[in-house]
Amino acid sequence: MTAGYLRPTKAKIDCKAIFHNVQTEKERLNKETELFAVVKANGYGHGAVEVANIAKQAGATGFCVAILDEALELRSAGITEPILVLGMIDPLHIGYLLKENLTCAAISTEWLEAAIKNWPSDNKSKLKIHAKIDSGMGRVGLRSDEEINHFLEIIEAHPEFDLEGIFTHFSKADSSDKSYFKLQQARFSKALSLFPKEVRYVHTSNSATALWHDHWQSNLVRFGAAMYGLNPSGRELTPPYELKQAMTLETELVQVKKLEAEEGISYGATYYTETEEWIGTLPIGYADGFTRNFQGFKVLVDGNRCPIVGRVCMDQCMIKLPKSYPVGTKVIIFGDDEKGNNISFQDAAEYIGTINYEIPCVLSERVPLVYVNECD
Ligand SMILES: *Cc1c(COP(=O)(O)O)cnc(C)c1O
Repeated sequence: MTAGYLRPTKAKIDCKAIFHNVQTEKERLNKETELFAVVKANGYGHGAVEVANIAKQAGATGFCVAILDEALELRSAGITEPILVLGMIDPLHIGYLLKENLTCAAISTEWLEAAIKNWPSDNKSKLKIHAKIDSGMGRVGLRSDEEINHFLEIIEAHPEFDLEGIFTHFSKADSSDKSYFKLQQARFSKALSLFPKEVRYVHTSNSATALWHDHWQSNLVRFGAAMYGLNPSGRELTPPYELKQAMTLETELVQVKKLEAEEGISYGATYYTETEEWIGTLPIGYADGFTRNFQGFKVLVDGNRCPIVGRVCMDQCMIKLPKSYPVGTKVIIFGDDEKGNNISFQDAAEYIGTINYEIPCVLSERVPLVYVNECD
């Protein structure tokens, strides 16, 4: 999709906010604990390469992505630090991992066996793997003792694998109810005891675990949501330091008109003006990732909270203004305005019934990312 640089809609990324979030977390960690910045899904919509570079300046020593293509994107952009691919990689693509010096999650004994079968014959380098333990997420990873023991036997017999890490992922680290977290902790401890002691990295912390659980068992933190200023718990738990929201989504009024009472707005005429009303048109729609569920959501114009009236179209939507404003007036959809008002991703997420992570993630490529407050 073409990015709309010639249209006023843009996502501004505050580099200093990302820097602050990473640096503050880094300062809380003990000296031996590393921070890997999670930049999967184009850096949760904030731009993977740019975020990776900011995080690096703030103290990140490596990166995590979800899929192989994302790792290759970072390498082509000149990022030479360790990159861990968290999701399953088709063993057919082992060659890319070796060639680009990438680290991957080893999720099962079957995966190891398939990797051996598909080993590129011309390659003698070692593949760095992190063994994934499924301690209760039920997604990917080794579960039983037998499976782990079999896994270790294969690794022992195949020196082409370099077991560099052991990790797990908590499903309820963002909750005030700690019981499921404790169950996963106990399972992971047991799994860990089966592994040799000298493995370089043990990691259990996503943002929520890092913020609220003392980086339990980790000498590496996989820091995602919080880096972008998103509270992983929504509003349930308060972060130990201020998380600064990095993205502001803004646009401008492209047309303003005064309508008579009882005029229909947008497809299906689901909204009718009640009296004479000022209606403004915004150049953003569901093709930008601003979903139709935002009908009725309030955006900021000159400090006023103005509701989206009628359905959100593919490329445009309409808002009700308290008075006439000139074409070109700035509209904040998510973020802070100049008058100290704020619309958080949390507000947006609650409005459409999702979590704050999803709001920036689903913005489409049509919305250009503009970096402000750059660190030098
Ligand atoms: C996405 C992901 C993370 C980062 O999680 P946040 O909640 O965004 O910090 C960490 N670990 C794994 C395995 C992930 O998939």
